[in-house]
Amino acid sequence: ITSKIAALPPGSSYFSLEFFPPKTAMGSSNLRARLDRMSRALRPLFVTVTWGAGGSTADKSLELAELCQRELGLTTCLHLTCTNMSKELVDRALEDAKALGIRNILALRGDPPRGEEYDMGKGEGFEWAIDLVKYIRKQYGDYFCIGVAAYPEGHADEGHPEGQSLEHDIPYLVEKTKAGADFIMTQLFFDVEAYDKFETRLREHESGAFKTIPIIPGMMPIQSYQMIKRTTKLSHAKLPTNIVDRLDPVRGDDEMVKKVGVDIVSEIVTHIKERPSPCPRGFHFYTLNLEKAVSFILERTDLIPTSPADDETAILEVPMHHLTVNG
Ligand code: FAD
Repeated sequence: ITSKIAALPPGSSYFSLEFFPPKTAMGSSNLRARLDRMSRALRPLFVTVTWGAGGSTADKSLELAELCQRELGLTTCLHLTCTNMSKELVDRALEDAKALGIRNILALRGDPPRGEEYDMGKGEGFEWAIDLVKYIRKQYGDYFCIGVAAYPEGHADEGHPEGQSLEHDIPYLVEKTKAGADFIMTQLFFDVEAYDKFETRLREHESGAFKTIPIIPGMMPIQSYQMIKRTTKLSHAKLPTNIVDRLDPVRGDDEMVKKVGVDIVSEIVTHIKERPSPCPRGFHFYTLNLEKAVSFILERTDLIPTSPADDETAILEVPMHHLTVNG
């Protein structure tokens, strides 16, 4: 991912799309068709595949990652959590990812261990995401490009939002970055002022850890009124009053909510695109495996590479993928 970012022309922008593994065979075949369509029409710089906490989706995540990387020839990033996971499962996921030609891992903690599980998490040596970053670097050197998560409004564990603060998080994010992270991807947010402050704070941090590292903001297209209320609550992201005031009058009309949602997210993207950046500007979209809203936003914000011919990295991807797989 970082090589592809570095190869982009200065001042350009890119985006990535996130997918989760469907539970059923029907869901998988729908997603396969959708991914094929979306990757051709939208040309993301890379895609990411989520990992169920504790390894609950291990096989399905790897299957989807295989489809993206090998069959569709997309640069793929596998999310990987480390708590409530045995070391064997972590090793297997990394080995399988490598065998599939995947070069990118988003190294995450996952849900905090609870009760007796806590000892298991600790016993295996994986308590925080930084432990996974260090482990991947130790076992695989520079083979994997490693991303880590960050929280523009502060990280909060479910049931403990009181701990949510950048003051608490940033020193750990410095450590996580110094341990070998190559890029930072953020939690979804709608409070663009909070994001501005967060990014400025990282870029100007006295440690110098965030001077040039890609910081990719996480964007959640608004699919429905209920969903946005629920996800912002779960992720402890603020829904600013000016956004609530635009959504509330149309809350009963799903199509209107989507339309206003496209306006809202497009405005956030446009605002961030205009901020100065030491590297090309990227945006990560939590697609929830849905196609329409993200497509409208990408079109509106001019994020789709103009034509496959202009996107040299997309053309290079296929031969590079063969080189990787066949050594
Ligand atoms: P960490 O970096 O370990 O941080 C967690 C918290 O602990 C922070 O508050 C941090 O400040 C604090 N902390 C860190 N180190 C220490 C320390 N030494 N002492 C005390 N406090 C410390 N979850 C999934 O299960 N599957 C996914 O696919 C997934 N994808 C995600 C993608 C993105 C872009 C993001 C932002 C999150 C994703 N998550 C996913 C959720 C993530 O696993 C949770 O938010 C988790 O609670 C924290 O993960 P982390 O990697 O940020 O943890």
